[in-house]
Amino acid sequence: MNVDPAELQKFSELSHRWWDPAGSFRPLHEINPLRLDWIDQRAALAGKRVLDVGCGGGILSESMSARGADVLGIDLADKPLRVAQLHALESGARVRYRAISAEELALEAAASFDIVTCMELLEHVPDPDSTVAACATLVRPQGWVFFSTINRNARAFLMAIVGAEYVLGLLPRGTHEYARFIRPSELARSARTADLEVDELRGMSYRPLGRTYLLGTDTRVNYLMACRKAS
Ligand code: SAH
Repeated sequence: MNVDPAELQKFSELSHRWWDPAGSFRPLHEINPLRLDWIDQRAALAGKRVLDVGCGGGILSESMSARGADVLGIDLADKPLRVAQLHALESGARVRYRAISAEELALEAAASFDIVTCMELLEHVPDPDSTVAACATLVRPQGWVFFSTINRNARAFLMAIVGAEYVLGLLPRGTHEYARFIRPSELARSARTADLEVDELRGMSYRPLGRTYLLGTDTRVNYLMACRKAS
């Protein structure tokens, strides 16, 4: 199975603070409006069947549901999924959650979703190509797949690990492993191999002074990629 148990453990241990906007997942809360609008502008979420792969505590899943999408969130870590379920009960969000891998779901539900989102997950799995291929199988022809991950170069090491984990303390130490970062060219190749066309590449950068994030052309550290299923 394409999963690293140590990674699941890491997210499970932190999961009680998933919805604390000032907690360990603060960056996910802060980037969420940006990525949500970006997805919505391209794929028009209202009324769409959406799969959120590696949904964690459900920050993106719930927000897409609030835009009118019919969302299924999947993850392999039990605790974050329970947090997601409890939070949906409290907030009234109508999101379904399942503990299943993208590869396994692809066997039972090929071409079932208009939109697949796979955010901040690829850099935590042993075989990202397999995850990308599963996402491509799960989306319908002409449907959208949105990825986000972290680039691999000296600047990404400095910003995403040294800066974010050790200097600024934005993320718990050990959240990311440099060797698992993925260059946009590598993700693009993986997408094309899976019959996905790359539609757009956007960078996401952090401004420490204003503590703000913005979407732009700087893909050197964090980036997002929008793809469409060819056929
Ligand atoms: N996508 C969410 C959460 C990102 S955190 C967001 O952007 O808001 C990464 C998530 O990936 C965690 O919830 C972790 O449990 C999950 N994860 C790690 N390895 C996984 C795998 N192999 N399959 C599915 N989920 C996985």
